[in-house]
Amino acid sequence: MNTIQIGGLVSFTTIDYPGKLAAVLFLVGCPIRCAYCSNPHLIPVGAGEYDPDKVLEWLRSRVGKLEAVVFSGGEALMQADALFDYMRRVREMGFAIGLHTNGFYPENLARCADLIDWVGIDYKATKTNYEKLTGVNIAYDHMLKSLDVWANTGKPAEVRVTCDPRFVSVADLREIAMDVASRGFKNFAVQKYIPHFEEPENPTTAQMRNAFFADKELRAEIDSLFETVAWRE
Ligand code: SF4
Repeated sequence: MNTIQIGGLVSFTTIDYPGKLAAVLFLVGCPIRCAYCSNPHLIPVGAGEYDPDKVLEWLRSRVGKLEAVVFSGGEALMQADALFDYMRRVREMGFAIGLHTNGFYPENLARCADLIDWVGIDYKATKTNYEKLTGVNIAYDHMLKSLDVWANTGKPAEVRVTCDPRFVSVADLREIAMDVASRGFKNFAVQKYIPHFEEPENPTTAQMRNAFFADKELRAEIDSLFETVAWRE
C-alpha cells in the first residue's frame, strides 16, 4: 500500500457534510488546473504535511464527537490505492464518509463507492468551456462518467457549480442544471465565484458575478428541477 499524503486538515465543520459534524482531510495532488483554484498549494503531487497514523489516532479521539470525515483535495481519488485503505480504516471507527471530488477519476470513484456515504461533485462548466477552465481536455467526459457512476449507487450527493462568469454564463448554468437533473440528482448547489486576490473589482465584473443570483426566473426554474438547491452567495 502507498502511504496517503494529507496536506491539510479542518478539525470541525458543519458545512462540508450535509447535516453532520465533520472533519475534512485535504489530500495532496490534483490532475487538473482550475483557473480559480483556491488550494493551489495542494495541486502538485508530493509529500503531505500530516502524518497519516497520527491523523488516525486523532480521529479515534473524535469518535462520539464528530459524525463524519470528508476527504477533499486537491483530488482525493488521485491517491486511490492509499485512499481506499485509509477510508476503510476511518469507516471502521464508525464515521460516515464524505468525498469532495472534481470527478476526474470515475473508475476510482466506482472502486471506493461502497466506502463512501455522500459525495459533492463539481460540474465546472459546459463542455465548451471545460478545457479552458481546467486546462485538461478530457476532464468534462470524465466528470460526466463520475456523475453516472455515483447516480447508479443511489446514494446521496450534491452537484455544484461555481459561477465564475469567465467560464459560466447564465444560459450555461441553466443547461448544466437540466443535465444534472436528467441524470437523477436531487441536490444542486450554485456557488458564487469569489476572487481571492485583493484587487479593486471592476463594477461590471461584480455585476456579472451577481447575475446568477439576481435572476428570479432562473432561480425558480432551477429550484423546480431539484429537491434542494443551495444558492451560496
Ligand atoms: S479541482 Fe480543486 S484543487 Fe484541483 S485545480 Fe480545481 S479547484 Fe484546484
